[in-house]
Amino acid sequence: MDDQIELRLKQCTKLPSLPSVALQLVEAAGKPDLDPDEVISILAKDPALAAKVIRVANSPLYGQLSKTQNLNQAIIKLGLHSVITLSLSFSITHGLRSEGQPHLLQVWKRSLISSIVARLIGQRHNIPNKEDLFLAALLQDIGILALDAMDDGYQQIILEAKTHQDILRLERQTYKTDHTEVGHWLLQQWNFPDLLCNAIQFSDDLAITHETEEASQFLSIVALSGRIADIWLHPSIRQASFTAMIANQKLVKLTDSEFQGVIDYVTSQMESFGQLFNIQLFSSKQAEQIQETASEVLAIRNLTLLREIRKEREKVDILEEQNRYLEDQVKRDPLTGLYNRRYLEHIMAIEFSEAEANEWPLSLIFMDLDNFKDINDRYGHPTGDEVLKKVSRYMERQLRRSDVVARYGGEEFVILLPNTRQDDTERLALRLKDGIKQLSCISEHGDAIHVSTSVGVACHSSKHPFAGANALIAAADKMLYEAKNSGRDLIRVYQRPEPL
Ligand code: GH3
Ligand code: MG
Ligand code: MG
Repeated sequence: MDDQIELRLKQCTKLPSLPSVALQLVEAAGKPDLDPDEVISILAKDPALAAKVIRVANSPLYGQLSKTQNLNQAIIKLGLHSVITLSLSFSITHGLRSEGQPHLLQVWKRSLISSIVARLIGQRHNIPNKEDLFLAALLQDIGILALDAMDDGYQQIILEAKTHQDILRLERQTYKTDHTEVGHWLLQQWNFPDLLCNAIQFSDDLAITHETEEASQFLSIVALSGRIADIWLHPSIRQASFTAMIANQKLVKLTDSEFQGVIDYVTSQMESFGQLFNIQLFSSKQAEQIQETASEVLAIRNLTLLREIRKEREKVDILEEQNRYLEDQVKRDPLTGLYNRRYLEHIMAIEFSEAEANEWPLSLIFMDLDNFKDINDRYGHPTGDEVLKKVSRYMERQLRRSDVVARYGGEEFVILLPNTRQDDTERLALRLKDGIKQLSCISEHGDAIHVSTSVGVACHSSKHPFAGANALIAAADKMLYEAKNSGRDLIRVYQRPEPL
């Protein structure tokens, strides 16, 4: 916190101070072996306070199981710690609230609604110290009282601000600090436990990570409680509802029905709760109108969310499609669209290991178009290109999905056939060679172009293994060379003697 502001606060004589009963309660709560009788005797000094604790114990907040007649029974029913915390809540609100400060009414309303919210969320999430949650939420804006006492001009901020966020912004502009820091400081002066002090400090934070999971959860619930309370206090119920729902996603992650449950519960408790604290919160009718709008926003938000999720998914689909396309393009030869040599070499190594691991055959066909130079020379390079494309389309149509056909070089093609035996490969080679020959290729001038192919074949199998993918392709290349040398338009198959 800003040093100058701290000095001004320290020197301020009007700073809110704890009522003496509250002081004693804080002190008692800090003792390791707390005696219920001691708490009873403190509360007995303030009969109005004691009566209130008994009233709360009998209120719907604690269920209607058994009627509590006195403090002893209240302690048994609520637990000693709860009684202390509740008493503190009442004592502080009663002691610090003054009718002469109408500009602070909204602030008190926010604190009280927050405290119902925080306690309920704590209860639903089985948080052991839900009464502390109640107290922390109730005190989250106590820094406002301190700033208001410190500076007469502060009133102007409260009057000018339309929302709680406005208050924080204007405070930072004017004092280089805000009421979360001031509240934290004040509670430390009052010797409140760290968890409570921290809850005030982080009450405006939307990204809370604290030492332990438990502490983070506690602080997150307090921070969320204020945002939910804003639904009743913000000039736009819709906007505040959205903000609260977003805060929930960041902080506590209540499900939609839990969130709705909180709003419904607050609405139902609003009037009786206000009476406990002597403050007119909202009439049931007003509260119900607010509840309706908030529920509407919750429903709309779900629709909007669904729509957004769908849009996002479509975007991702398009991106993935583009990525797939780009990835695929890297593997392809631009002229024919067949796989390129680089991809062939990559996939060949993989297929060779697969073949070895599964003990299935792997065959390879190496083709080279005959006298292609002549075709170029006679009909022109563009026509040559068309022939290459036509041959490529034809081969693709003849092959299975698992086969890989690649353009190895200019007019050279390699076909990799996983899990294909030699006899099947020879049949396929023959079919391709004859099919290519029968392709009707026409030149720009209407001349029929005759294309023939020379083919080399090599097959890897567990019976006739090759050392690796390179050895396999070298053998097929050798056979292709033999086919060329033997007169072209021929198939040569790599043969090996039967093992002895
Ligand atoms: P061989 O029967 O011995 O294979 O004779 P060839 O003419 O086919 O062999 P060579 O390797 O001497 O020539 C290959 C020719 O293929 C040379 C080159 O102009 C042509 N060529 C290579 N790539 C392309 C291409 O992308 N488009 C066209 N139109 N021609 C190409
Ligand atoms: Mg050739
Ligand atoms: Mg060639």
